[in-house]
Amino acid sequence: MFDTYAKLAEKALTDQAPTAEEALWILDGEDVDLLLLLQAAFEPRRKYFGREVTVQVLNNVQNGLCPEDCGYCAQSNVTEAEVREYPIKSDEEIFAEAEDAARGGAYRYCMALSGRGPSLSRAKRLASLIRRLKKEYGMEICLSAGIMGDKQAEVLAEAGLDRLNHNLNTSESHYEEICTTHDWNDRVQTLEAARRQGIETCSGMIIGLGETSKDIVEVAFKLLELDTPSIPINFLIPIEGNPVQEDGSLTPERCLRTLCLMRLVNPRAEIRMAGGREGHLRGLQSLGLYPANSLFVGGYLTTQGDPFTETYAMIADAGFTVQPQAGHDQPAPREEDRIRFQIPRGGDLIKPDIARITE
Ligand code: SF4
Repeated sequence: MFDTYAKLAEKALTDQAPTAEEALWILDGEDVDLLLLLQAAFEPRRKYFGREVTVQVLNNVQNGLCPEDCGYCAQSNVTEAEVREYPIKSDEEIFAEAEDAARGGAYRYCMALSGRGPSLSRAKRLASLIRRLKKEYGMEICLSAGIMGDKQAEVLAEAGLDRLNHNLNTSESHYEEICTTHDWNDRVQTLEAARRQGIETCSGMIIGLGETSKDIVEVAFKLLELDTPSIPINFLIPIEGNPVQEDGSLTPERCLRTLCLMRLVNPRAEIRMAGGREGHLRGLQSLGLYPANSLFVGGYLTTQGDPFTETYAMIADAGFTVQPQAGHDQPAPREEDRIRFQIPRGGDLIKPDIARITE
């Protein structure tokens, strides 16, 4: 039995993907020993990232008002969720929030805008913001702004954007179950445009959307094919009023197996525990650090998450360390800043109903 796990680890360490059969076994095998699987996934994680954890802060700079119909999203035009809507925030507000993230010890600051995608003039405005943010705080900047082509990506690349996020979210064949106003290929093409312009890509998925294990495996392999260096895995947070609700598949073990699959298929990628880690991994969150080397802290697009204090304690308790910000030796934020982070800025976050997640 130990041979199976050793073989998976060895393959990952030598950049060989598991077979489709092995990938499905990771998710569904009844004889899988979870601790041995986590250990196998930890081998490539340790080789490429040691025991460091990259902490990222996600900030919604434009909320709601989206014409698209992504059924899992509380900002879509089909949701009945009560989310505060606002057009893009002022530069002052964005800078104040970036400063909070920098003081909190975040390595990377991720700005997310609702909407189908930016016009060229919106991309230019974002580019000037990115230039100033990078100069001021030194954090890496990631942007999630929807579908875009080469022109927008070129402007953002010239401004020094470190990463562009655009999640595949689910497999090609399952995509129309969650969205009809754009298709999966629009998402792939956005990632390809970013790569052509020399921007690092970030793309992952949401599990719990009614997908099968085969769908998850398909996404894992597509991300490998796209040579994706950063892969966030979201665990659907069911928000009342959204058409797509959690499908009941997400146990802590299912979440961990998915993280292990992503690591073993994409051994060199930054694998991130993203939205919903708190409610779905629950007491097993720290085990997620064995396959994953990155996480979000403070909250997600429309929902609250654990604050810095608890997250840093979880990381330290499990024997991992926080990756320092660029140009800093010490990642630890000042205590008063940690405390300030107990409540993320902005009043637009929904507190997820954990009872609904865990029932
Ligand atoms: S996921 Fe993005 S594109 Fe889809 S509805 Fe939400 S904000 Fe709009």
